[in-house]
Amino acid sequence: MYKDRGDGRGGNRESLESKKRIDEVLERSSPSTSKGNAREKERVSVPPSLTGRRLGSADTRTGFEKSKYAEHADEELESDSEESDVSGSDGDDTSWVSWFCGLRGNEFFCEVDDEYIQDDFNLSGLSNQVPYYEYALDLILDAESPNVDMLTEEQNEMVESAAEMLYGLIHVRYILTGKGLNAMLEKYKNMDFGRCARVYCAGQPCLPVGQSDMPRTSTVKLYCPKCEDVYYPRSKYQGHIDGAYFGTTFPHLFLMSYPYMKPVKPTVGYVPRIFGFRIHKSAG
Ligand SMILES: [Zn+2]
Repeated sequence: MYKDRGDGRGGNRESLESKKRIDEVLERSSPSTSKGNAREKERVSVPPSLTGRRLGSADTRTGFEKSKYAEHADEELESDSEESDVSGSDGDDTSWVSWFCGLRGNEFFCEVDDEYIQDDFNLSGLSNQVPYYEYALDLILDAESPNVDMLTEEQNEMVESAAEMLYGLIHVRYILTGKGLNAMLEKYKNMDFGRCARVYCAGQPCLPVGQSDMPRTSTVKLYCPKCEDVYYPRSKYQGHIDGAYFGTTFPHLFLMSYPYMKPVKPTVGYVPRIFGFRIHKSAG
């Protein structure tokens, strides 16, 4: 879920550059973002500006999503209603988290509790990893950031992008907690993560997994608890999600927590045959 998602792995350099830019911006704007500023606090307490921000940023978001997904327009002719859902959720009472989890491709994410996000302890260390951290956090929590009106459109897009990353990094921690595991259990029962493509797994529901816990290393994969192997998600949209937002631990802790969800290992496997005869080892 990053801005250079379309570029795949090659986007590292670009992301470094954009981080540099972000650092510059942060340096310039840091004095005015200090929380002690009384004028800012006054502005925070004015509800109409919040509404304005929600509407304004929602527009930016929609544009951002469209450009990000435009390259896949020819893939997967899914129902148009999903698209209209995305734009339809703008400006209404939908929280950022619900809006984000409802986006096409974000089906694997569960909704993280506000309470969990509001507890600083749960977010320790993330402020160093995510640019525009305070802005991104306010966006996720639907709170008004001080000086947010001073951000340029480009900076706003960076905040959107940072919010996605921050949410992902919170999400990977949350899904290892009791509440998070439970939220993922509901999604698993609902088969939100899809089924194993292997014929002998007979439609076994899968779980999302990362091959690395470092962001921007690899995209999310699907783990099949039956054949105990990993696969690419079927949807290209899901295939662009960072695997670090699910992590290497999740499916295994999940199956340890809910052992009754662990399927029996498959007893039958595929046997290659030629004219009905098994192929002898010596023929290979
Ligand atoms: Zn399988």
